[in-house]
Amino acid sequence: MKISVIGTGYVGLVTGTCLAETGNEVVCVDIDKDKVKKMQGGEVPIYEPHLEVIFERNIKANRLKFTTSLEEGLEHGEIIFLALPTPEDEDGSADLKYILGVSDDIGKLISEYKVIVDKSTVPVGTAEKVRATIEKNANCDFDVVSNPEFLREGFAVDDFLKPERIVVGSSSVRAIELMNKLYKPFVRSGNPIIVMDEKSAELTKYAANSFLAAKITFMNEIANYCEKVGADVDKVRRGMGTDSRIGKRFLFPGIGYGGSCFPKDVKALHKSGKEANYDFQILESVIKVNQSQKTILFPKIEQHFDSNLKDKSFAIWGLAFKPETDDIREAPSLYMIDKLLEKGAHIKTFDPEAMDNVKRKFGDKIEFANSMYEALEGVDALIICTEWSIFRTPNFSKLRDKMNGNVIFDGRNLYDLEDIEKENLSYYSIGRENIKI
Ligand code: NAD
Repeated sequence: MKISVIGTGYVGLVTGTCLAETGNEVVCVDIDKDKVKKMQGGEVPIYEPHLEVIFERNIKANRLKFTTSLEEGLEHGEIIFLALPTPEDEDGSADLKYILGVSDDIGKLISEYKVIVDKSTVPVGTAEKVRATIEKNANCDFDVVSNPEFLREGFAVDDFLKPERIVVGSSSVRAIELMNKLYKPFVRSGNPIIVMDEKSAELTKYAANSFLAAKITFMNEIANYCEKVGADVDKVRRGMGTDSRIGKRFLFPGIGYGGSCFPKDVKALHKSGKEANYDFQILESVIKVNQSQKTILFPKIEQHFDSNLKDKSFAIWGLAFKPETDDIREAPSLYMIDKLLEKGAHIKTFDPEAMDNVKRKFGDKIEFANSMYEALEGVDALIICTEWSIFRTPNFSKLRDKMNGNVIFDGRNLYDLEDIEKENLSYYSIGRENIKI
């Protein structure tokens, strides 16, 4: 099939590449000229495991092409995916200017039947707005489908190729048939393509993300309470997670959720509720608790250093909002860096993939190390912000040798307390007993 994807970020590029992998001819459109040039030259502009191999394979096979011309993209595809940003607007709602701007152009440019598929995360009612915007100028038939994306950064290729479910929101038999045909190779193991109306599809994505954000936040509150009463959140988590109604995943406490999705999506659903005269009280709490969770380690740091952080030096391991991505949008590490800089501390960071993005934000206000151990040289403390696998089993004697101080503040509970007790280090984590030497 002939497919076009408008917007080649984490979602658009993975969508385009994976659809090419199943034999479709794909044209990806982006307004970012540098990005398009890189991709035309065979370079993957983001870090996403397993993407490079299939990206290269499909470019070689001539099934995957890149352009800055929307016109070219629209001429090529029968199915046009919109994978455009829907960032948080000033009032917390989802800003639809990219989606509706491109929809306006689509109306002017199409001259034969197209299916416009909204893959971006958008509020209920957006498909109607997209349809109305295209209709203003279009002089041919078209359908609008809501097809929210559930991939996770870091697992995006696997998630796209083997989705747990595909949600298709449409009332057009013709569009649904095309979507079923396109997605058939991805659901051979029997996972469902769930067809529903556009509004329900749009809400499904917000409901899923908000539920997961609430699950993490609930666990963060349990962890905070554990610290007050001397319980151990690791044990509580194990005890809870074995209940199949609860499940083991998303029960790990930490320094808050970040990323390009949960923070803005929870706020957007909360705001949409208000617009519909519904007060999502649970989401209001989730937003509030997560905000304070991002800096939950900070009072422990201040207390440990008797409120004097001026000229203290800190290594930060992990900058990405989660492992296996270079995405730093709303990453808890950024809040930690801001707080430490405010207090006059020095910071040396290391992240396997996200340092370039953080350099663009902080420049030479902080240092960037070439390895996790280099970041430790001469520092007073180590702070862990992202649970990359390489941080899980460090060489503790090397760590102690490199550091000037002897304390770890672990925002991701990477180490078992029994193990760390033997390492002659002070250790502060989330929802567990502090170890002080
Ligand atoms: P992104 O910011 O990584 O990428 C968006 C791309 O769109 C950029 O390359 C940008 O240059 C391009 N763009 C902007 N305006 C354009 C225009 N007028 N024409 C062509 N290209 C244009 O965004 P993303 O993370 O891929 O997210 C896209 C959407 O998917 C959002 O609604 C997001 O909420 C949703 N989503 C994201 C994820 C995720 O894990 N990142 C998962 C599921 C859903």
